[in-house]
Amino acid sequence: MNFIRDDLIAKADMPDEEFRKIGYKLIDWIIEYRNALGNYPVVPDVQPGDVIDSLPASPPHKGESFEEILIDFRERIVPAVTHWNHPGFFAYFNSTSSAPGIFAELLCAAMNVNGMLWKTGPAVTELETVTLNWLKQMLGLDNSFWGIIYDTASTSSLHAIAAAREYHAGLMIREKGMPGRNDLKRLRLYCSEEAHSSIDKAVITLGLGLEGIRKIPSDSQLRMIPSELENAIDDDKRKGFLPFCAVATIGTTSATSIDPVEEIAAICNKENIWLHVDAAHAGTAAILPEMRWIMSGVEKADSFVINPHKWMFTPVDLSAFYTRKPEVLKRAFSLVPEYLKTQTGKAENLMDYGMQLGRRFRALKLWFIIRYFGVDGLAARIREHFRLAKIFKEMIESDSKFELMAPMPFTTICFRFNPAKSEVEAHLEKLNNTLLNKINTSGKIFISHTRLKSKFVLRFSVSGLFTGEEDVKNAFGLIKGKANELSQ
Ligand code: PLP
Repeated sequence: MNFIRDDLIAKADMPDEEFRKIGYKLIDWIIEYRNALGNYPVVPDVQPGDVIDSLPASPPHKGESFEEILIDFRERIVPAVTHWNHPGFFAYFNSTSSAPGIFAELLCAAMNVNGMLWKTGPAVTELETVTLNWLKQMLGLDNSFWGIIYDTASTSSLHAIAAAREYHAGLMIREKGMPGRNDLKRLRLYCSEEAHSSIDKAVITLGLGLEGIRKIPSDSQLRMIPSELENAIDDDKRKGFLPFCAVATIGTTSATSIDPVEEIAAICNKENIWLHVDAAHAGTAAILPEMRWIMSGVEKADSFVINPHKWMFTPVDLSAFYTRKPEVLKRAFSLVPEYLKTQTGKAENLMDYGMQLGRRFRALKLWFIIRYFGVDGLAARIREHFRLAKIFKEMIESDSKFELMAPMPFTTICFRFNPAKSEVEAHLEKLNNTLLNKINTSGKIFISHTRLKSKFVLRFSVSGLFTGEEDVKNAFGLIKGKANELSQ
C-alpha cells in the first residue's frame, strides 16, 4: 500500500495528531450542543451587522491555531445562530439535522468527491439512483418516475419548468431563445394563489416574465379550484397564449393545503400541459400508510419534488426531484464539451440533467438516514408530529380567545388571537403582529406568520426531531401568557 507520508500531510494540511484531537473535541461539542439546545434562545438577540462588526475586516496573513478559531466560533458565531434544531422551533417548516446526516456530511467533506460525471464519482451517481429508488418506494411514488438530487426545491421546480418548456420541442427555445421572436406564442404557467414563491422566481429566471404565470383562485380550504384552472386555460388559448405548465402543491407553504392533484392532472393531460407537483415539505408524510392518499394523482404528473431537508431529518440541503420524462430534462440541459467527454458506455452522467456541473455527494446523508432510522423509524417520528400538532390544535380550539384559521391536514396550525371576537382586520393584524413579536423575543420558541385570504395569521408548525409533548404544551402556555398580557 502507498501511504501519503505524515510529514507531507502535516506540511500541506493539519497534522494527524491535531486532527484527531480537534475532531474528538468537536464531536464532544456537538453532543453537548444537542443536549443543551433547549437552553439556547431559538432566535438570537442580535442586530443586523453585529456579526460583521465583531470580526476582523481583513483575513489573517499567518495561519491561526484551531483553538483560536474555535473560540471565535463559540463566542461570535454560535450566539448569532438561529437554532433550527431547537425543540421550540415552530416557525416556517422546521428542519432538524440528525446524527446519521451529520456523520454523512463529515465523510462527504472528507472525501470531497465531485459527481459531475459517472467517472468522477461512480458511487455518487449510483448511490443517488439507489437512494432515490428507495425514497420512491417509501412514498408510494409510481415506478415510472426517475430521480435526481438538487440542492433545494426552488432549484428542482426551476428544472421542472425548464423541462416543461422543452417538452414543447417545436418552440425551439433551446436553439433560438425567446427574445425578439414573433413566431412564438406567450407561454403561460398555472399555479394556485397559494403556491410557493419559488415558482414565480423560476418563471422570472427562465425569462418568461411574471406575466407568464397565472394564479388560479383557491377554495375556502385554500386548494386550487380545478374549474377555475380549466377556465383560465380556455381564456388564455383564446387570447393567443400557449399554456405549457401547471404546478400543483401538496402542502402549501402557508397552510399546508392540498391541491386536488387528480383533477388537475386530468385537465393537464387533456391539454398536453406538463404537471409539476410541489410536495417539498409535506410529501414526507406519505411515508405513513395512513397518509399515502396525499399522493393520489401524482402518478399522472410529469414531475414531483420532495425535500428530505425539510421533514426527513436531513441536514440542509437535499431536494429530491423526480420526473417521468427524464429524456426531456436531458434535452433541456445536456451539453457536453470536449473536455467532459467520457467513454463509460451506458453510465448516466448527472451533469446532463441540470444546470450545475459539479455536484456534492448528497445521497450519502439520505442513505445513512434511511438505513439508520429505517422506514418504520422515520414513520414513527413523523406520526408523533401529527399527534403533537393535534394536541396544539385542540388547545387552540378549546380557548375561546383564539381562532383556528385553516384546516390542518398535516402538522401546521394557522390561528390568531381574537379575544373580543373583533371583525376589524386592521386591528387583528396589529394585535397578532405585536403578539408574534412578544412570543419570538422571549427566545423560548419561534413561530412565524402568513396571510390567508388577506387575513394575517400566526403559524405553528411541528416537525422538529427533538420536539416533545412538553415543548408543545409549554409553547401554548407561553403564547397564551403573552396574549393575556396584551388583552389586559
Ligand atoms: N415549495 C414549498 C411548498 C415550500 O414550502 C418551500 C419552502 O418552504 C419551497 C418550495 C422552497 O424550498 P427550498 O428552500 O428548498 O427552495
